[in-house]
Amino acid sequence: MKSALLILLASSALAGCATMEKPMTTAPTIAEAPAPKAAPNPLTAEWTGPFQGVPAWDKLDVEQFPAAFTEAMADMKKEVEAVRDNPAPATFQNVHEAMMLAGDKMDRVQSLWGVQTSNLSNDRVNQLEKEWNPKLSAFNDSLMLDPKLFQRYKAVYDNRATLNLTPAQLRLVERSYEAFVRNGANLTGADKTRLMAINSALAQKFAEFGGKVVRDEQALIFVDDAASLAGLEPSLMASFKAAAVAAGQPNRYAIKNTRSAVQPVLDYATDRALREKVWRAFVNRGDNGDANDTNATIVEILKLRQERAVLLGFETHAHYRMADTMAKAPSKAMDLMMRVWPAAVARVHEEVADMQKIADAEAKTSKTAKITISPWDYGFYAEKVRKAKYDLNEAEVKPYLQLNKLIEGMFWSAGQLYDLGFKENTGEVPVFEPKVRTFEVTNLKTGAPVGLLYIDSFARDGKRSGAWMTTYRSQQGLGGTRTVLASNNTNFTPSTDGTPTLISLDDADTLFHEFGHGIHYLLQNVYYPDLARVPRDFVEMPSQVNENWLLTPEVLNRFALHYKTGAPMPKALVDKIHASSTFNQGFATVEYLASAIVDMKLHNRTVPVTDPDQFERETLAEMGMPKELVMRHRLPQFNHLFTSDGYSAGYYSYLWSEVMDADVWAAFNEAGGPWDRKVADRFRTIVLQTGNETDRAEAYRAFRGRDPDVKPLLARRGFPTK
Ligand SMILES: [Zn+2]
Repeated sequence: MKSALLILLASSALAGCATMEKPMTTAPTIAEAPAPKAAPNPLTAEWTGPFQGVPAWDKLDVEQFPAAFTEAMADMKKEVEAVRDNPAPATFQNVHEAMMLAGDKMDRVQSLWGVQTSNLSNDRVNQLEKEWNPKLSAFNDSLMLDPKLFQRYKAVYDNRATLNLTPAQLRLVERSYEAFVRNGANLTGADKTRLMAINSALAQKFAEFGGKVVRDEQALIFVDDAASLAGLEPSLMASFKAAAVAAGQPNRYAIKNTRSAVQPVLDYATDRALREKVWRAFVNRGDNGDANDTNATIVEILKLRQERAVLLGFETHAHYRMADTMAKAPSKAMDLMMRVWPAAVARVHEEVADMQKIADAEAKTSKTAKITISPWDYGFYAEKVRKAKYDLNEAEVKPYLQLNKLIEGMFWSAGQLYDLGFKENTGEVPVFEPKVRTFEVTNLKTGAPVGLLYIDSFARDGKRSGAWMTTYRSQQGLGGTRTVLASNNTNFTPSTDGTPTLISLDDADTLFHEFGHGIHYLLQNVYYPDLARVPRDFVEMPSQVNENWLLTPEVLNRFALHYKTGAPMPKALVDKIHASSTFNQGFATVEYLASAIVDMKLHNRTVPVTDPDQFERETLAEMGMPKELVMRHRLPQFNHLFTSDGYSAGYYSYLWSEVMDADVWAAFNEAGGPWDRKVADRFRTIVLQTGNETDRAEAYRAFRGRDPDVKPLLARRGFPTK
């Protein structure tokens, strides 16, 4: 029952990522009787075929989801009631183990639904989300708040000292009990009814928020002629042309209002007016006072969250959400962020000064009006500074970054470090999109099967923006070994002219990042699925640490090969990339931290905010936010916070995880370097394989001999370490 009940039991989402976490699979609801169906529903069927069965993506049919949910809920209800009504005295086996073995059908339906909503969405899917999220949430509540079921858990908890439990079992008993309490199991009467109503209303508001932002991202900005797109690469212009053709305007170009389309325009388009127009459209997603404006939705969400926190005995929503994290309290997270913030802001001022110098010189030589660096100039002039200071041009790097070669590179690296082997088997198992590639995963040393990896690389309509990793089925020991079905999802722009797809250095980072989540899930070796899911502020560590191997000479020399000549990236270019690694870190840190700090301040207060725009403005002013940039995610479009509880009061987690990541990387380098197998073995066995079987702070200490140190992170970003 991992993705249903345990979504609420555990406080972390599945693997998230720097750009967009996996949308929290909304857990399920008792509903009306299933409509009678002649044929069995393909969405609830057992998975068949190789790898202990794989999803029948070829039978995915959105109209079958309502019946599938209804059927899965009925089954799960029966299974849970059998545990609840068992007349035997409650034991770890007949309560905890039995519950962990229940809900497989719901798990399967949820995996399919996750792909339908994240990879293959459309208006109909969004409509079903709005209708079903509240029902599924209410169903989940009806289980979690069932007093008789809770009494079974409580009985084991109360007797835990006399039950001869193993340390893992004891941890599980205590965590389950605490999660029940956190989710309202101790509430009675009107309070309990109110909690269920709040959760259901929130689920509906989350879907509403997501739908509004997606609609604003589907907006197109039309450009009449190629000249206006000067500075952009031909492949990008071709994709803008294709978007216009698809929109029925074959003589124009269309820029979609998504990060992957907008960012290269901001970085490279020479037309300043176009940059401003595109920037304004992008930063105002969800904030235009029209039908897609999300401000009122946010206000509702904040009110409901605070009411729920108080109902459950917490001071604020932030305290509630952080109870099961490594940081544990809002103040600890704020302390870390404020340790980094001043240095990052100071660095932004230096970066802007460098850019302004270039802009002033340009105005002089071309005898044009002086400009003041504005937010729509940051990326564009940063590129010029990069060229001037480091002589590094992204366009020079990209021909060496072939997507498929880099995928080979990340596989090779995982083989060297962790003995994971990948063999392509695209075409042998069903996929939900023709361009999805699949790979059989084995242990290179023993030949033992590990699982299957799906890679969905390219952007398309109906796919969420950003990148994420998820599992369709996770490893566990209980009930028999399970083969992992993992998937990596990104939004790269495919080549349209038959040449290999090339990606930017940032995209290559994203590729290694998501694959780091993949490694974490493929290596997982836990017995109880309830002890698999790691805290939210830990989950980004394995992914962020994996980014480090991209720029090692061993990976670059073998896999960063020019798409025309096959030559490896020249050493001089590699040196320039390394030299510029601290470049623009002021910008990157401030745009992220501003979002994370505003998130924490928004949720760590007892009186809910009633005007998100005003709150955002005032908070940023108080913080001394530089005027030349904006939050990476402004509140009206902050999917992490408002499409689920997932990363609310939790966006700080990326920084928390990155402190550990930099410190882990330092451990490799203090030993024999990036490929030191002793460190890799310890990292794998102590930290990566162990899920959440022990407290993650303890596991980290066991690996490193001490708590994580923030200094390697500051040094990596080029900030003072004192
Ligand atoms: Zn991630």
